[in-house]
Amino acid sequence: MYTAKRDRTQVELWRAALTAGNIDLGLDTDLRAAIGKGELVLHYQPLVDARTRETASVEALVRWSHPRRGLLPPRVFLPQAERSDVIHLLTAAVLADAVRQAAAWHRAGRDVPVAVNLAAPVLASDRVVATIDALLAETGLPPRALIVEVTESAVMTRPAECADRLRSLRRMGVLVAIDDFGIGNTSLGLLTQLPLDELKLDRSFVTRIHEPRGRVIVESVARMANGLGLTLVAEGVEDERTAETLTELGFHLLQGYHFGRPEPALAAGTATRDQQGVTPGSR
Ligand code: C2E
Ligand code: MG
Ligand code: MG
Ligand code: MG
Repeated sequence: MYTAKRDRTQVELWRAALTAGNIDLGLDTDLRAAIGKGELVLHYQPLVDARTRETASVEALVRWSHPRRGLLPPRVFLPQAERSDVIHLLTAAVLADAVRQAAAWHRAGRDVPVAVNLAAPVLASDRVVATIDALLAETGLPPRALIVEVTESAVMTRPAECADRLRSLRRMGVLVAIDDFGIGNTSLGLLTQLPLDELKLDRSFVTRIHEPRGRVIVESVARMANGLGLTLVAEGVEDERTAETLTELGFHLLQGYHFGRPEPALAAGTATRDQQGVTPGSR
């Protein structure tokens, strides 16, 4: 027999079971609703050319502009999203925003490729290729202006499927970067098989570059990446001395607070003179 009371108890038990399995019903529902309401926002962080220090591309990083809790960083909601289907919805929203923004910059004469992070479950599903294909068709963005970033650990969860997916994207002309390189125990063999354009060395190595052993590791990764013809990127560059050392070691692109923090689209160094507002008397 069903009573309201019994239903409630049932729901609570259910909730407890799901939470024990690390599925937070509350957060999932909230996040899903937030995506519907457009509460996810992208901030863009520049990657600069190591020699000229000019912006070469930007990375889109998601935040949740929560009505009560303020601007939430991805670590607060991404892990949960990745354990449920919400990650697919989130990624679709992020891709749509990032590709449209890149297309707008492109039309305004600013050729800044945009990088988007893809989580393991997204990379393992075949939807992502069609989603990207549709967005490129809709916006007319040249595929080369889109970079997908995947971590080693994401690839390692399903190496065969992921390699397939990356190959399809690359055939379309989209660029592929391996993110947080060095901490995800990729076998070196995988590196020779994965279709890659860019290698982003994890910040933990960058911060240890002035220690003798740290430097040796970074040097050998640099040699390897250059030997493989990959664009070599350092993340987490926080000071000039580190930037100079990385440039000497052959890094092509540098990313980090020293060059710019993730910021909303307009601030991301993309406003052209014309977009900065018309001053009185200028027409
Ligand atoms: P990531 O892709 O490795 O992004 C770099 C992270 O390092 C960003 O953190 C960025 O704000 C931070 N960072 C950049 N420069 C510096 C620096 O000089 N020093 C320090 N200490 N940190 C720096 P954020 O934005 O909190 O993102 C964290 C992670 O969340 C990202 O790491 C990425 O794995 C994930 N993420 C962000 N946006 C998305 C998304 O749209 N989809 C998916 N699947 N993952 C995302
Ligand atoms: Mg990234
Ligand atoms: Mg990274
Ligand atoms: Mg990282």
